[in-house]
Amino acid sequence: MYEPIIGLEIHAQINTKTKMFCSCNNDSFRAIPNTNVCPICMGFPGVLPVINKEAYLKGIKAALALNCSIPKFSKFDRKNYFYPDLPKGFQISQYDQPISEKGYLEFEVEGKIKKVGITRLHLEDDAGKLSHERDGTLCDYNRSGTPLMEIVSEPEIYSTSEASAYAREIQKVLRHIGSSDCDMEKGMMRFDINISIRKKGEKKFGTKVEVKNLNSFKFLEQALDYEFERQVKALEAGEKIVQETRGWNTETGTTESQRSKEEAHDYRYFPEPDLPPMTITAEEIENIKSSIGELPLVKKTRFIKDMDLKEDDARLLSETPELAKYFEEVAAKSKDPKSANSFITTVLIGKLEGKPISESPITTDNLANLIKLINKNEISNNMAKTEVFDEMFATGKPPSEIVEEKGLKQVSDTGEIEKICKKIIEENPSVIADIKAGTNKAEGFLVGQVMKASKGKANPKIAAEIIKKLLQ
Ligand SMILES: [Zn+2]
Repeated sequence: MYEPIIGLEIHAQINTKTKMFCSCNNDSFRAIPNTNVCPICMGFPGVLPVINKEAYLKGIKAALALNCSIPKFSKFDRKNYFYPDLPKGFQISQYDQPISEKGYLEFEVEGKIKKVGITRLHLEDDAGKLSHERDGTLCDYNRSGTPLMEIVSEPEIYSTSEASAYAREIQKVLRHIGSSDCDMEKGMMRFDINISIRKKGEKKFGTKVEVKNLNSFKFLEQALDYEFERQVKALEAGEKIVQETRGWNTETGTTESQRSKEEAHDYRYFPEPDLPPMTITAEEIENIKSSIGELPLVKKTRFIKDMDLKEDDARLLSETPELAKYFEEVAAKSKDPKSANSFITTVLIGKLEGKPISESPITTDNLANLIKLINKNEISNNMAKTEVFDEMFATGKPPSEIVEEKGLKQVSDTGEIEKICKKIIEENPSVIADIKAGTNKAEGFLVGQVMKASKGKANPKIAAEIIKKLLQ
């Protein structure tokens, strides 16, 4: 039996206003190719880059959220290589003195907490984008110079599901602290994997293979599964694993050899002469640390423990900081976390059809007030979840106004409900006979009839009590 030993390098674009070393807009989504560039990010000779402070601080924040230590001193280095997507002829990255080192991430996998070491988080700039067309290759340099953080894990991941859970937790953390939007569809988060295999119980590492540039969780999982199988087959056949870089072919679902692995000296790293080193004080680090707030896993655990939510609901509600905030506000204002959870997870999210909670036409005040109306027996739960909610969603109006306008107020007047109950009992002699004979538990049916007759406005609890009393 073999096991994989996996390390992950995650590249995430930092969501700054401008690029890493120039004043170009950092958002090139839908821009015409090569329109969002300047002499600096195009690597013209004689230009001088300037460090984007926002990118630096957001990188430090991410590193702190990943429990890294922050050295007081760090610097940028040139990583020299030639490729058409890199007009400078080098990438500005960090070699031996990155902004952070030695952290860890805790995440959940198959119901258990797993901890993986983070070797480092460093800053660098992104390259341009190549599209390989039928007749040649097109270069778009809009992405060139986008601020990136690279998060390198220790090789402490031992299965595809662990790797996937780790990567998903990184995405959640970066979104929560606001350092990256991590939108996979826009290429804001990409994975490189290192994978070797060994017989279970062995201590020695096998030869590792790198698979680069996986741009979705699905491809990450597929590439890991494929590469594990490939290496097992090779070893079983008596072949040697070659240390190399492979690419993922989305069409065939296989990895393909691209080049033999480079060593650090192939890149001729040296300190970037055009940028000053960076320094940070203990006080600045403390300030950034205190701005991080509660991380998603901690939040989820608290939702389960303190608010008595189910695992799946707690996970859903802690998925993004906006959704978590919305839920917590409704829960606090209504003093009813369970109903807040139920409305948001079973009704509101479905209605939003994939849109973010920030686009909800229902404010937290209005949703909390709706819950209060139910708890005061002013409207039925059913009415609240259907008619009133639909109208709130369509118009953004407060629930009390809708209830008033539409005359939906629940009837809790026992005299009035009793009248309807008596009528229903008279109209259904065969059901009553069944109940009296003990052969039918149709009291629920009768309550349903009362609700129908009252157009949903009778308080179902009171109706059930009256029916019971009348039948005795
Ligand atoms: Zn530029």
